[in-house]
Amino acid sequence: MNYNEEYDKLKAKILAHAPDAKTDLLDKAFHLADSMHKGQLRKSGEPFVIHPVAVSIMLADMEMDMSSIIAGMLHDVVEDTAVTIEEIREMFGDEIALLVDGVTKLKRIQTYTKEEQHAENLRKMFLSMASDIRVVLIKLVDRLHNMRTLQYMNTDAQVSKARETIEIYTPLAHRLGMTKIKWELEDLCFKYLEPDAYESLIKQIDQNREQKEEYISKVLDSLKGKLADAGINAFLDGRPKHLYSVHKKMVTQNKTLNQIYDLMAIRVIVDTVQECYTVLGIIHEMYTPVPGRFKDYIAMPKANLYQSLHTTLIGPDGHPFEAQIRTWDMHKTAEIGIAAHWKYKEGVSEKERNSELDSKLAWVHNLFDNQKELEDPNEFVETFKMDLFTDEVFVFTPKGDVKSLPKGSTPIDFAYSIHSAIGNKMVGAKVNGEIKPLNYKLMTGDFVEVITSQAPGKGPNRDWLSIVKSSEAKSKIRQYFKKEHRESNIERGKEMINRELKRINYTYSQLFKDEFVDPILQKYRFHTLDDMLNVIGFGEMSERKLLNLLVEEYKKSQSQSDEKAAEEILSKLEVKKDKKEKIKERHSDNGIIVKGIDNCLVRLSRCCNPVPGDSIVGYITRGRGVSVHRTDCPNVASMEVSSDRMIDVRWADTSAKSSYVVDICVTAIDRSRLLLQIANLIADSKLNMKAINARTTRDKYAIIDLSIEINDRSELDRLVNKISMLDDIVDVSRTVK
Ligand code: MN
Repeated sequence: MNYNEEYDKLKAKILAHAPDAKTDLLDKAFHLADSMHKGQLRKSGEPFVIHPVAVSIMLADMEMDMSSIIAGMLHDVVEDTAVTIEEIREMFGDEIALLVDGVTKLKRIQTYTKEEQHAENLRKMFLSMASDIRVVLIKLVDRLHNMRTLQYMNTDAQVSKARETIEIYTPLAHRLGMTKIKWELEDLCFKYLEPDAYESLIKQIDQNREQKEEYISKVLDSLKGKLADAGINAFLDGRPKHLYSVHKKMVTQNKTLNQIYDLMAIRVIVDTVQECYTVLGIIHEMYTPVPGRFKDYIAMPKANLYQSLHTTLIGPDGHPFEAQIRTWDMHKTAEIGIAAHWKYKEGVSEKERNSELDSKLAWVHNLFDNQKELEDPNEFVETFKMDLFTDEVFVFTPKGDVKSLPKGSTPIDFAYSIHSAIGNKMVGAKVNGEIKPLNYKLMTGDFVEVITSQAPGKGPNRDWLSIVKSSEAKSKIRQYFKKEHRESNIERGKEMINRELKRINYTYSQLFKDEFVDPILQKYRFHTLDDMLNVIGFGEMSERKLLNLLVEEYKKSQSQSDEKAAEEILSKLEVKKDKKEKIKERHSDNGIIVKGIDNCLVRLSRCCNPVPGDSIVGYITRGRGVSVHRTDCPNVASMEVSSDRMIDVRWADTSAKSSYVVDICVTAIDRSRLLLQIANLIADSKLNMKAINARTTRDKYAIIDLSIEINDRSELDRLVNKISMLDDIVDVSRTVK
């Protein structure tokens, strides 16, 4: 093949559909490709430049724009010769350089298409790397030419190329509506991947080819006559056979060749949509249509914008055949798909190009097969935009798998996308074999390797939260800090709260009351106050937010009458101090004697549930009388000791109250029958259980909360001892809320 002649053919083709085309730049590209590829041979023994010329010819056949045709000519120059992309840019401008660069980059991918499950990701990667869809078109045509000349390669190379083509390229061609290329690629793949089935199918078709061709031409002849009578100018054709789809139908529907309806088919191409329906009417009058086989893809185009009328008819001798009726526009779209939108135009302004975007977006709507699964068309456009104009980067794992990450992702995002254990042990990363900082922004096509360390003390850094991009990594790092540092988070949370309490002038016991705290815990779905402190200490919730909520609750509960009651107690106290009267001290109903006051409201605090025998202290509350705490109650520690609201209290010798409810918490290694043993033990001690609540922690501890009625401290101590002596008990303690 003389490539100079081929090049002249190319120019002739361009000028045939665009007589005003300027070919100077194309000449320049041809001469560059010719001189740079000089000496390189294809496997066929031909000069290499035959290949880019062939690619450009195919692009010209699709009537693509001049930039695409030139980029086709140059598509292997950067990869295979000494020419750099910068030189291409200087010589041919930004647009062509961008296209050539895109095709060059896509070459990196093809070596790594090993596993089928990654094919979809690779297709997406293709689209996302090709910032311009024309890059994909050039790449498809490039692949088609290579597949056409595959016979010169060895068998292994043939099979692996064919497999890659059927996994990556033909689905892309399908999505882009490029049926002609898709069919040819599929048939070529079929030939190399299933040579026996391919040969046998060819043989079967050949066997009665003559008879069938005769039959089809009989149909075409009589149809031609009828159409002429109706004054319709139509192009008629026996449809070319697409072997692979016939083969697939035979396999999936388990049919013989003769049972495939559309094996015999005709195609009618007319000028207008109206004529399509007229032709349909004429055909249905001539031959009996097969029920259920008529499809109107004109009214309802396929996802890839394919339009046509399909019908199956019973022919002259009783054999069915399929007819496809369409306009020339539809025909072109059916064959070259999205490429139809880059039709060659001279002197198209930027503005005009942009106005074409709408029609391109119409394509976009139809690119993907799963279109029907997406309810909202906008969602579909978003999906596509993501895929094509890309908020994603695609990177390789060391094994060659592809990971998709949001744009701006770092090696840390990558590590967490593999497994949180990898992220949590990460100490560094290699990108394309070089050590890179952890805040390195990954780029599509990067090979990423995570360096981990098992050394103790290694782990995520809080700074990582501001480095990572993916929400997956963020939440996994947060989880790590919440879990690994729970104790210190809780401590930090408490400190933060105490600091803030001082600032806003409240005491811990004022605000941290069950009736204030519980609803907040519930609202934010925390099980315990510690869980909330963990989150506060970790920094995910602000201590101010919690305190504001508590202050609100607190203020709500302070009615004026409450205020008065508090003043009353205080004034009584004052009065008595003044008069220095000797008062008979009387104990309240719960067996508490308040020093210096008789007959005032006394309440046992619910945070520490004091029982007779406990060392206690009183606190004058606003509106709730005197509340009595154990002196070792942590809430007391946080009250201002100097406050004149602290008051001495003691247990009366004989208490009026017969029993006190005390809360204890048992921690044990979880096992069966534990709860039953504890319950029996309490019953044996002749004690009343008021409430029991058990749960198991993630690390297999049982936490059992008990509320028990007792008379005094010694009884409680005895019970605690007994429980402690059961097997598997880790801790028994009184609960302080
Ligand atoms: Mn090539």
